[in-house]
Amino acid sequence: EQTRETIRARIAELETSPAGLAGLSDFDTLPLSAPTLNSLRAADYATMTEIQRAAIPVALKGRDILGAAKTGSGKTLAFLVPLLEKLWREKWSAMDGLGALVISPTRELAVQIFNVLCKAGREHDFSAGLLIGGKDLRHEQERLGTMNIVVATPGRLLQHIDQTPDFNVDNLQMLVLDEADRILDAGFAKTLAAILKALPKKRQTLLFSATQTKSVRDLARMGLTDPEYIAVHEKA
Ligand code: ADP
Ligand code: MG
Repeated sequence: EQTRETIRARIAELETSPAGLAGLSDFDTLPLSAPTLNSLRAADYATMTEIQRAAIPVALKGRDILGAAKTGSGKTLAFLVPLLEKLWREKWSAMDGLGALVISPTRELAVQIFNVLCKAGREHDFSAGLLIGGKDLRHEQERLGTMNIVVATPGRLLQHIDQTPDFNVDNLQMLVLDEADRILDAGFAKTLAAILKALPKKRQTLLFSATQTKSVRDLARMGLTDPEYIAVHEKA
């Protein structure tokens, strides 16, 4: 089993150029923690998809990502694996509070992401929760102070940032904006701007979108720092 130190050293040596990526096709070729590798194995995820192969090494290095890949390409694990690894490397625990936040355009997609998180994070000790509304605010508020990873829809998330005193976002390490084009299409541009304003600037941000529209680029300019552009296209 590999220690945090050896994994950090292997990440530092990790090749992220397209040429170097060719040889890395299985999750277990990457410098990932035992809890993540064991969880992925238990869920029968062995070989990475193209977007995972391109994005995960770059994200492990701590870079911000602006990623484009069509629906069904495996974007969820492309961001959840680096997210779990970041918190693991930081020895994130219950006392550290919110470490990572995933924003999704709809409740249904948020639930899907949460289910993949439960599988990929099974062997980790992080607490995770969904903030998607539907029930009263207080119901979600109860456990919010102790959650390490939150998957949320934008409106509900901003409501908690404004109204839940226990919800402290100051330690946030990683923000994921999934299906950013759909978040913006749904009219959440102002909500996102208010959320970004409330979050700490020093964080890693991964933005994924099926399409790269002007509003996605505007959002990227506002929320990302020196991002690596990663686009995976269908083969002809
Ligand atoms: P996207 O978000 O890009 O639309 P998803 O993350 O929802 O794609 O993944 C699409 C499907 O592919 C899901 O059913 C998921 O379980 C499966 N999948 C993702 N990554 C892998 C992988 N590495 N190996 C096998 N199946 C995978
Ligand atoms: Mg998706």
